[in-house]
Amino acid sequence: MKKKLRLKLPFRILLSAIAVILIVTLYFPIRSIIKLVGHNYSFSSSVEIVSLDLYDEVIARDYSETLNKIVKDKDFNIDNYESYMNINYQDRPNFLQNVNKLLELKYNVEDINNINSIVSDSFYPKLFQEYIQDISKYLTVKYFKEANFDRYRKYFNGNYEKTILYVNIGLDKDYYTDTTLTDDFSVTMLVNKYHGISDKFSVPDLTKISDECSIAEPNYMSKEAAEAFETMCRDAKSQGYDILANSTYRDMDTQQKTWDTYLNLYGIKYNEKYVTRPGYSEHHTGLSVDIKSKHSNIFKDSKEYDWCLDNSYKYGFIHRYPESKVNITGISSESWHFRYVGVEIATYIYEHNLSYEEYYAMFLDK
Ligand SMILES: [Zn+2]
Repeated sequence: MKKKLRLKLPFRILLSAIAVILIVTLYFPIRSIIKLVGHNYSFSSSVEIVSLDLYDEVIARDYSETLNKIVKDKDFNIDNYESYMNINYQDRPNFLQNVNKLLELKYNVEDINNINSIVSDSFYPKLFQEYIQDISKYLTVKYFKEANFDRYRKYFNGNYEKTILYVNIGLDKDYYTDTTLTDDFSVTMLVNKYHGISDKFSVPDLTKISDECSIAEPNYMSKEAAEAFETMCRDAKSQGYDILANSTYRDMDTQQKTWDTYLNLYGIKYNEKYVTRPGYSEHHTGLSVDIKSKHSNIFKDSKEYDWCLDNSYKYGFIHRYPESKVNITGISSESWHFRYVGVEIATYIYEHNLSYEEYYAMFLDK
């Protein structure tokens, strides 16, 4: 009996030792996993976090959805752990692979968060070609278009917002190159040296402007614009200002004749500067009006000019080709040329001192 007990004692010691070792080695990991699960990590992610020896680090900070989603991935790179913790998770294809490539190229986490939340899947390969240190400055401009990215970088003028707007307008290209032609009329349509009208285009509701608001030759505008002009004309009159429609709607043939006349007189250089090519004149839209003062042959010197600058927006008209916007409109300053866009847009443009090209690129060009 005694002998048997003696034999068992070492065995019991051994069992106790094994039990202690098991408790020590299992208790702490299980306790860690439970704590991580309580910290919102999934069970399997928690097991992985513990096995990677990241428990102390992870439990000490806020829950990371990114870590929870990627820690079990075969591409999880522990060297990038700190960056991962600052990158917002996005549920999109190849998220971790893309993040790893961007980190490898030295993009910082702010850039990566911008990239992941803004660009489309097809834009990533461009980012993988090289590290673009100012990528966030482009991406965070509201009007950023992926398709124009190379043009932005080529054109860059020192100001990201202006670069993006100007390239979207088309200013990095020569006039009349890469043009689009529209078949359809709308009050907000843009016609300039990049956007013309097609042969199919017509103004649906040309309306004659009443004699009291027009020079002797008949003038026609699209109905809404014609009515707005007449209201403006009558209100101006009641305040002691006499404005007349001097030139409004022109069809393609008329513009062609104008072009040819000046071409014969002054040559192509003059024409390119002062005359608009047929198809690209805003007068084709029936929304433009060249205004004349009853009292002065030079509109710019008339009191009517000042009145129009201050008041036309209330009737939906904008001063279309001001001196300050020649570099954007591509049209030499024309004090007399006003364009109907509707009261809301005209008011915004007036208050923010924009050209119609800028407004269009900011709000209408999708
Ligand atoms: Zn004009």
